[in-house]
Amino acid sequence: MDDCIIIGAGPAGLTAAIYLARYHLKIRMFDSGNSRCAMIPCTHNHAGYPNGISGKELLARMLEQAEKYGATRDLAEVTGLHVAEEGFVVRVGDRTYPARSILLATGVVNHRPDMPDSLHNEALQRGLLRYCPVCDGYEVTDKRVGVVGTGDHGMREALFIRGFTADVTLIAPGAAHELPESCQKALDDAGIAHIDGPCGDFRIEGDQISTGTAKGRMAFDSIYPALGSRIRSRLAVQAGARAAEDGCLEVDDHQRTSVPGLFAAGDVAKGLDQISHAMGEAGVAATTIRNMLNEERPIRR
Ligand SMILES: Cc1cc2nc3c(=O)[nH]c(=O)nc-3n(C[C@H](O)[C@H](O)[C@H](O)COP(=O)(O)OP(=O)(O)OC[C@H]3O[C@@H](n4cnc5c(N)ncnc54)[C@H](O)[C@@H]3O)c2cc1C
Repeated sequence: MDDCIIIGAGPAGLTAAIYLARYHLKIRMFDSGNSRCAMIPCTHNHAGYPNGISGKELLARMLEQAEKYGATRDLAEVTGLHVAEEGFVVRVGDRTYPARSILLATGVVNHRPDMPDSLHNEALQRGLLRYCPVCDGYEVTDKRVGVVGTGDHGMREALFIRGFTADVTLIAPGAAHELPESCQKALDDAGIAHIDGPCGDFRIEGDQISTGTAKGRMAFDSIYPALGSRIRSRLAVQAGARAAEDGCLEVDDHQRTSVPGLFAAGDVAKGLDQISHAMGEAGVAATTIRNMLNEERPIRR
């Protein structure tokens, strides 16, 4: 039986693997191979890399560090998680793996605007499409920015980006905006244009990306989709863990879910969706797991 099975090998899962392997625990890590971190062309807000680092390179370095201490990453999707008489059972297809504890670090998936993958990936690489103004709002300072979204969520994203540039347009993803009067007023007060959609027929035009709108085709230096995300918390919820309405797992300040022995870290838990936060939560979770297992059976060399 493993001491801990980590589900997900993004920044959260890999950080936990480094900690737990260095605590001399027997661990296993599964990953289905689509970390949000791998989508980052070059992060400039992650401390320690003054010239930035690509998400893929950061993941590769973390994996190398984890492997140095004996951790391994199995490229496989975990399909089931159940509480057992002693600990948990993880299912991968028709194989099962028992574990004393679980760390869920499965992240989230952003809802994308409707466009072909090839266009999406090129736009993402070139910074024409961006998903995270907390991460890269600085890079659109004084640029022309479109935000695809509506309602309270769209308004909040547009207002946040207004801190970086005066040229922000909120475009409805569907035909018409759903903006209560209070939202419209907040946007008007901040000088943010709001234009009906539908957004679509995205095209890269030179150094800009354009979209159709109710007012015709509009081009921007960058577009931020504000379309929400799917939280990959299903496994934990099926095992009985409590989640907020949006699907994020509820955790205490030691990353414990409501199911004893089941921990969560990174984007899948409620908090700031950032690499640094994912890493910090994973360090806390791993150390709490170590101390919990040590109380059950002292860890001795
Ligand atoms: C375009 C973009 C740019 C960003 N830029 C920055 C930035 O500059 N700075 C910053 O701090 N943050 C940035 N972020 C956010 C950052 O990527 C995330 O906060 C971070 O990746 C969260 O780490 P995580 O480990 O929680 O989740 P993830 O990195 O998403 O990793 C989760 C892992 O779990 C695996 N998984 C999911 N379900 C299963 C399953 N059932 N079985 C096995 N494996 C599973 C997935 O395959 C994935 O590898 C950006 C995000 C995007 C999309």
